[in-house]
Amino acid sequence: MSRIDFAPIAADLRRLNVGAVREQEPMARHTSYRIGGPARVWVGTESAQGVVNTLEWLKTRQIPYVILGQGTNLLVSDRGVQAVVLSIADGLKDVAIREETMDSGSGVLLTKLSHLAARAGLGGLEFAISIPGTLGGALVMNAGAHGSAMVEVVRSVRVWDPVAGVRDIQAVEAEFAYRQSRFQRSPWIALTAELVLHPRDADEIRDAMRRFMTHRKSTQPVGQPNAGSVFKNPRPLYAGRLIESVGGKGWRAGDAEVSCLHANFIVNVGRAKAEDVLRLMRRIRCAVYQRYHVILRPEVRWVGPGEGGASATWENLWYEEGVGLTEPCE
Ligand SMILES: Cc1cc2nc3c(=O)[nH]c(=O)nc-3n(C[C@H](O)[C@H](O)[C@H](O)COP(=O)(O)OP(=O)(O)OC[C@H]3O[C@@H](n4cnc5c(N)ncnc54)[C@H](O)[C@@H]3O)c2cc1C
Repeated sequence: MSRIDFAPIAADLRRLNVGAVREQEPMARHTSYRIGGPARVWVGTESAQGVVNTLEWLKTRQIPYVILGQGTNLLVSDRGVQAVVLSIADGLKDVAIREETMDSGSGVLLTKLSHLAARAGLGGLEFAISIPGTLGGALVMNAGAHGSAMVEVVRSVRVWDPVAGVRDIQAVEAEFAYRQSRFQRSPWIALTAELVLHPRDADEIRDAMRRFMTHRKSTQPVGQPNAGSVFKNPRPLYAGRLIESVGGKGWRAGDAEVSCLHANFIVNVGRAKAEDVLRLMRRIRCAVYQRYHVILRPEVRWVGPGEGGASATWENLWYEEGVGLTEPCE
């Protein structure tokens, strides 16, 4: 990709008046890992129209961009992001409940939706109480916990599509699967979603939510910066158990450490770099492959060199580095 001069881009984006525009914004401020070099340009959109206007503007000029939700499933390169990082959460905050349907902007936190549903006596989002991040990120990841996932509640999603503009897609078109969706393979940006819930006794809902939170606190390192599960479970196996069985708990690279509480979590115990997390991930993948011939696939998504927009995936990076998915040991 030829070098892009981002200074005039930042100036033009300020003139668009869609929200805050910052240059060289440390991504460590915007990720739950507290890791990541500077975004060349960071835009914090403040309205739904601002989100769409910015996306259209970037598309027309073919400027690379990366969408940021709450940054709870991202590993951002220490070298930063040579693109416009578009933080859309503040622009997409509206929620409306009609009977058993919830319409929500994709910037709303999943935990907030879980509480709102409980207050309205609606079941279906109890599982979401323990998942950080926005509705948008949860759609992309088909986030799930405690045996449930987004696929069970989504009826439709309003997306911005660079070809067709704003349009509604039905859940089936999103091709939700275990920690997967078509959003990971297409340039669609989720703007709002319609969720279908069901009436349930409010006390039962709150009991379930309490149980889920208690379980979470006793099994995961909630007090330390992390990005949730690093690898997907190679079903029917569990990544955490495989990593634990190769002795992974407590492995360290710089200030990144495999959690002693849950082996599929890498925590930042100080000033960890993305490179430290990568080193641990490579070590884990290799050890598990050598013992079990199982290739662990990352759940955490990579943002950094090697990608240029919403279609970036971890898998791309592994290939570009010559590691390859079939050769997990360098
Ligand atoms: C302590 C902890 C516990 C966790 N537990 C769980 C768990 O139990 N289950 C689980 O599934 N996950 C879990 N996660 C991971 C993470 O919270 C989820 O994947 C979450 O859904 C990500 O949401 P986000 O807003 O932070 O997305 P981000 O991390 O900001 O982004 C994730 C991906 O989605 C894209 N994206 C974000 N918003 C949009 C949008 N509106 N349109 C298009 N693309 C978008 C981004 O470009 C990126 O590729 C956990 C994370 C932490 C830190």
